[in-house]
Amino acid sequence: MKPLIAGNWKMNGLSASVQEVQKLIGLFSGSVPDDRDILICPPATLVGLFAAEFSDEGIAVGGQDCHANASGAHTGDVSAEMMADAGAAYIIVGHSERRADHAETDEAVRRKAQAVWRAGLTPIICVGETEAERRAGREKEIVGAQLSGSIPAGDDAYVIAYEPVWAIGTGLTPTPGDIAEMHAFIRSRVRDGVRILYGGSVKPSNAKEILAIANVHGALVGGASLKADDFYAIIKAA
Ligand code: PEP
Repeated sequence: MKPLIAGNWKMNGLSASVQEVQKLIGLFSGSVPDDRDILICPPATLVGLFAAEFSDEGIAVGGQDCHANASGAHTGDVSAEMMADAGAAYIIVGHSERRADHAETDEAVRRKAQAVWRAGLTPIICVGETEAERRAGREKEIVGAQLSGSIPAGDDAYVIAYEPVWAIGTGLTPTPGDIAEMHAFIRSRVRDGVRILYGGSVKPSNAKEILAIANVHGALVGGASLKADDFYAIIKAA
């Protein structure tokens, strides 16, 4: 399976950040490799600008969230159709920060993933256990329930990102054995051809080891995707 290396910029970036992506392309000597998919999910304000600048340069652009409806009285929200119109190819749904900050349930995430399909795009559906859940040995139970509740019925394409909540932005990562075990579990629960990304403190120093683990088909990268040098090193490791 072709690896997907996705950058989640979260609430970071202004129009001047175009220069950071231009720097990334420059590090590839202007020719981004096509044997792996590269995706940047900037804040919604930058999706149109980045798509216009970079979609033809081998860097896909995605959204970080969307509303389940296509339009209507939802002040401050952005629909999947609007993301598609701006040039997005993917939309992240169910990131743990959205599940925590906006009380998003599996049902809400499933409806968002369905909206992404409706707009003709690919959802990246995030799942992952908290530290307390892992300590209690409940990680598969939690992730299994999130998979059952968050993946819509249907044949459209989707990507799963396994992101242990306790590994996001902390510098902590599960052991390679724990990642392998969880990815094998997720593999057994999703259909063939679905890419399963690992996310949580991926950085240049651990990317090669993580991306070599069985059933890891890429990475969802937060902090390290903001710096061209670091994101370049992670893409090269794939
Ligand atoms: C993320 O936010 O999806 C993420 C994995 O963040 P970080 O790489 O900073 O841990």
